[in-house]
Amino acid sequence: MAKKLFIPGPVDVSPEVLAKMSEPMVGHRGREFSSIMMSTIEKLKKLMFTENTVFLSTSSSTGLMEAAVRNCVDKKCLNIGNGAFSDRWHEITKSNGKEADFLSLDWGKAVTPELVDEMLSTGEYDALTMVHNETSTGVTSPLSEIAEVVRNYDVSFLVDTVSSMAGIKVEVDKLGIDVCLFGVQKAMALPPGLAVCSVSDRAMEKAKSVGNRGYYFDFITFQKYLKKEQTPTTPAIPLLRAMDYQLDRILNKEGLENRFRRHERMGNLTREWAKKNFSLFPEEERYCSNTVTCISNTRGVDCNELKQKLADRGYVFANGYGKLADRTFRIAHMGDRTIGELKEYLSAIEEILGL
Ligand SMILES: *Cc1c(COP(=O)(O)O)cnc(C)c1O
Repeated sequence: MAKKLFIPGPVDVSPEVLAKMSEPMVGHRGREFSSIMMSTIEKLKKLMFTENTVFLSTSSSTGLMEAAVRNCVDKKCLNIGNGAFSDRWHEITKSNGKEADFLSLDWGKAVTPELVDEMLSTGEYDALTMVHNETSTGVTSPLSEIAEVVRNYDVSFLVDTVSSMAGIKVEVDKLGIDVCLFGVQKAMALPPGLAVCSVSDRAMEKAKSVGNRGYYFDFITFQKYLKKEQTPTTPAIPLLRAMDYQLDRILNKEGLENRFRRHERMGNLTREWAKKNFSLFPEEERYCSNTVTCISNTRGVDCNELKQKLADRGYVFANGYGKLADRTFRIAHMGDRTIGELKEYLSAIEEILGL
């Protein structure tokens, strides 16, 4: 029997969504494909609260992290790191031959508007990267406060919302995000393989003059094909069908506000449980994520043993990420996960550990 995934991606996909992937193939230069693609993009704009251009990419999210810096960094990029994925964006920026500085915060801290203001006021940067929801530490940085500061500068605001989009509200246009990117295997609850980004008009304009944008992730090429209602290369067509359908479920069946509320309830429930039995890893509770909770292993639990025992009960457990592997563990509560399922999982951990 399939195990229930309590890891922060990929997450469980509903059987009806999976079934959409087995529909017959169509050509990606034909009308039927274009209609699926454009219908999906219209729905994505609602999800993201944006009128910006929305691109679909057949890659994982990391591909679009690379795309964002390749297309939008001309002079020098400020990469703000407060966990594994935001730190990775610095590596990505450097390895693409871009000038970049790394503002490295302790893992568990949130990015703050004060820090961003201080760094941008040097006038050295034309782009800024940050992760909204750090999946490795369970920290959600205060995006609207940060956006208030960023709008005072002429910098491209590049934001990874990989593990927040569709679980936590992100209003792209209100926030003035130039490139907002995410993958589909996290809070969207789709199988992995596609990524999405919105690109502002000013970022599109800028991309035209940025050299060496590469071939696969060139926004200008993406746009040229979008005008024809196509993608430059063969996309993951079955996944697009699934996404179109899942967006209907998200927008119409559950409703966006209900979805955000469910994630908030799951976040609250998990935090109360964590505080009762362990402690929260993020430095401040107000920055704790509603899609994934990172818990300090204050009891010195043998996480590999716990993982095995949970597997025997049909669950997949998430260890801490990277350097936090021994000190923390994580509970993902995102996607189509129900509050009832989450409660059962927490009870299973209690039983195993005798809490
Ligand atoms: C999972 C994740 C990524 C990487 O996603 P891939 O789809 O594996 O490339 C990047 N950023 C964040 C915040 C993530 O949670």
